[in-house]
Amino acid sequence: MADEGRKKCKHNLCECEAEEGSDYCSRFCEDAQKAKVTAIRCDCQHAPCS
Ligand SMILES: [Zn+2]
Ligand SMILES: [Zn+2]
Repeated sequence: MADEGRKKCKHNLCECEAEEGSDYCSRFCEDAQKAKVTAIRCDCQHAPCS
């Protein structure tokens, strides 16, 4: 596995990799998860979620 150190975004519906030093791929996911938004899909606008 070449992806050691990479972790998935903590947003339940997000398929992206989290950014370094963060549990999320973007502020969108961080805010959405913290706010317990019940979205039907991730809207972070990264390719895996579009
Ligand atoms: Zn996403
Ligand atoms: Zn995300």
